[in-house]
Amino acid sequence: MKIGVLALQGSFHEHQAILQTLGVQVVQVRLPQELDGLDGLIIPGGESTTIGKLAVDFNLLQPLQQFGKEHAIWGTCAGSIFLSKDAHRQQPLLSLMDIQVERNAFGRQVDSFETDLEIPVLQSVSKEKPLFHCVFIRAPLIEKVGTGVEVLAKLPDGRIVAARQGHLLATSFHPELTEDARFHQYFLEVVQ
Ligand code: GLN
Repeated sequence: MKIGVLALQGSFHEHQAILQTLGVQVVQVRLPQELDGLDGLIIPGGESTTIGKLAVDFNLLQPLQQFGKEHAIWGTCAGSIFLSKDAHRQQPLLSLMDIQVERNAFGRQVDSFETDLEIPVLQSVSKEKPLFHCVFIRAPLIEKVGTGVEVLAKLPDGRIVAARQGHLLATSFHPELTEDARFHQYFLEVVQ
């Protein structure tokens, strides 16, 4: 399996490292032709406005939209914003996933936090209890999901932080910043 990691800005090295421990071939994507032959793509966390602007400058916006019509894409944090249809602001978005997000929903950098959440779908990759350590860094919330979007994880107060729409996956948090590869394994299941 060959998975791309959008490598314009943000935590792409961390995603690459986890994928490599799973024996997957990884390609850093900065140019449209680097999408050729990929089975799936991860858009890392970072800063969604920066990722969007660089995607425009590198002529990647349309090729990414085309790729996402037929292939799996997983956006983590800023990546989930970039995947969304609506982030309440004017910024380049892929508009692939029918979710509305609120950027920086938890406040400023100092309000970043970590917590264990139950993510039942992880039981498909491991018999462990489906608790996952979630790292939120100036994270967005998934405020609204369209029909056909499955909610994968919520905070204890019910706010949505992970969702799936067919072959598209969005998480507000950063599985690439933990040692736990289960979410990446789950993405590989989505890819297949
Ligand atoms: N705050 C960033 C944004 O709005 C996302 C932060 C992150 O990816 N950790 O794009």
